[in-house]
Amino acid sequence: MILPKSHRLTVAQISELTDIVSEFDCRLQPIIGAVRTIYAILGDERDELMINRIEGLSYVDRVDRIQSPFKLMDRRSDLASHEVKIGGVTLGRKLLVIAGHCTIDPKNPNLFYETAAAVKEAGAQVVRGGVWKPRTNPYSFQGDSKSLDILMEASNRTGLPVDAEVMDEEHLRMALDAGVHMLQIGARNALNYSLLRAIGKEIAERDTVVLLKRSLHMGPINEFIAAAEYVVSFGNPNILLCPRGTAPGLDGYRNHPDESITLLLKEKSWAPVVVDPSHSVGRATYVPACSLAAVAYGADGLCIEAHVDPTKGMGDDPKQALTPEVLSDTIRQAKQLWAMRRGVTPVVTA
Ligand code: PEP
Ligand code: MN
Repeated sequence: MILPKSHRLTVAQISELTDIVSEFDCRLQPIIGAVRTIYAILGDERDELMINRIEGLSYVDRVDRIQSPFKLMDRRSDLASHEVKIGGVTLGRKLLVIAGHCTIDPKNPNLFYETAAAVKEAGAQVVRGGVWKPRTNPYSFQGDSKSLDILMEASNRTGLPVDAEVMDEEHLRMALDAGVHMLQIGARNALNYSLLRAIGKEIAERDTVVLLKRSLHMGPINEFIAAAEYVVSFGNPNILLCPRGTAPGLDGYRNHPDESITLLLKEKSWAPVVVDPSHSVGRATYVPACSLAAVAYGADGLCIEAHVDPTKGMGDDPKQALTPEVLSDTIRQAKQLWAMRRGVTPVVTA
């Protein structure tokens, strides 16, 4: 990773560096951080000759050599000073809450508009809504592109940014064209490296935020962080790591709750952690406790399924979605706990 002396390098300087690193089969990738732009050397960056040549350039402050499978996502990376921002929240400074339907019902937009208003009232800063859905059963409702308009209308009405899962490159283009603010990469696609790359490339020049779920089958923590590196290595460092329960499920819970890995993720990576308690425990009555556990473990945010009337919901909503009243209580308690963990006086507005 190259740290320049100035905030940003000139075109001529970038071209000189590109020539040097390509001689050693590496690629130069600018990453626009909060403080300054840094330049990652992607590839095998261990060649001493290459490092010496770069360090000899007058406009280079230093070259950081982190031996890590994820040099950008690593806690020791210079990207560690990067702050991810969405919905008026700077991650790490305030608890982020993403809430809304598992699945938007394209035939009943008003339900989603009512939920969006209700989650805002409850204290959420981002509205979630599934447009396209990964379903185990091929004959279950798979989502509908029409719901994209409903999602964006909910954003207009509430003034909040919105989050939706994209499962392929067509969804990706449609979501970005529509102006979706946060792209969710689902548990089933968290190891789909071509999709991770495609998303990284498409959002490189945008301020889109990515919510990367942990795959059901991800073993080592490094595998999760390395998946995030795929996206970030194209230049947009706005990524959130989202534990959401893993397989095999714990008898009685939908999955094996994994909010406790927040501590391990934070030891290895600077990336904010946003836990999804809904898919983890899979039952509305268990979600508040799992949300608080996540905050106790140090989560920076929560992604919670909520619905004004879960009985009328689709997908996971009848089982998992919180009502606005329970969501509001959960957010209030989660904010208090978040403040306690940081040793500051709770400021509770919701
Ligand atoms: C969802 O958020 O509704 C969803 C399908 O999540 P996951 O990818 O974690 O299963
Ligand atoms: Mn769901």
